[in-house]
Amino acid sequence: MGGKRMKIAIDGPAGAGKSTVARRLARELNFTYVDTGAMYRALTLKVLQQGIDLNDSSLLQQMAETTDIHFETQSDGQVIISDGVDVTSLIRSPRVGEAVSIVSAHPGVRKVMVKLQQAMARSCSVVMDGRDIGEYVIPDADYKFFLTASIEERAQRRVREMEMRGYRADLDAVREEIIKRDQIDSQRPVGALRILPDHIMLDTSKMTEDEVLHTIKMKIRGA
Ligand code: C5P
Repeated sequence: MGGKRMKIAIDGPAGAGKSTVARRLARELNFTYVDTGAMYRALTLKVLQQGIDLNDSSLLQQMAETTDIHFETQSDGQVIISDGVDVTSLIRSPRVGEAVSIVSAHPGVRKVMVKLQQAMARSCSVVMDGRDIGEYVIPDADYKFFLTASIEERAQRRVREMEMRGYRADLDAVREEIIKRDQIDSQRPVGALRILPDHIMLDTSKMTEDEVLHTIKMKIRGA
C-alpha cells in the first residue's frame, strides 16, 4: 500500500503503560514502534559511562549529535543500538532512570532527538510514545492519546518491569524516582509533559493491558 503514512502519538508519565500498549498496537497495525524514552535513555547511558557533567549543555548537545542511536528489529523483538552496541537492557538500570530527566531537559539535546524522531515519522507509519510527541514531535498526528494512572499503580508497574529485566527494585525508591522524574519532565521549559486539547485521555489505573489496547483501537476505528 502506498497510501498516506499514519502517525499515532502516545504521551504520558512514567509507568502509565504507554510502552507495552504502543508496542502491541504497532504490531497489530503493522506500524513501526518508536520508544522515544529509550532514545533519551541510550544517550544518558553514554553520558554516564563517559562521566560527563549532566549540566554541561553544549557538551551534551554535541554528544547527542555525534551518537548513532537507532532501533533494529530482531526475531525476539525490537532492540536499541547506540554506537553499534545493543543497550536495550542497560538503559533500564536505576542509574539511567535517575539521570535521564536531567539529560533530556536540555533544549539542545531535545532538538537533536526530536529531529531524529520526526525523520522516523516521515519514513513510515508510526506509533510513537513519549512526553512531547503530540505537541512537538508529530503535532499533525492522526491520533493523540494521553495515558495516565495513579502514582501507586505506576510505581508497582515500574517495579514489575524492572524485576522482569533482572534489576532489583524497591517500591518506595521507585515511587520517589517517578515522582521526581514527573516533576522535572512537567516543569522543563521545552518539551514538557502536558495535556493538550486534542489528547484523548485514558486513566489506565484500573484497566488491564488488553482493555487499554482495545479502547485505543476503538477510538482509531472511530467507534
Ligand atoms: O518513557 P521513559 O519513562 O522510558 O522515559 C524516560 C525519560 O526520558 C523520561 O522521564 C523523560 O525525562 C525522557 N523523555 C523525554 N521525552 C520523551 C520521552 C522521554 O524527555 N519524548
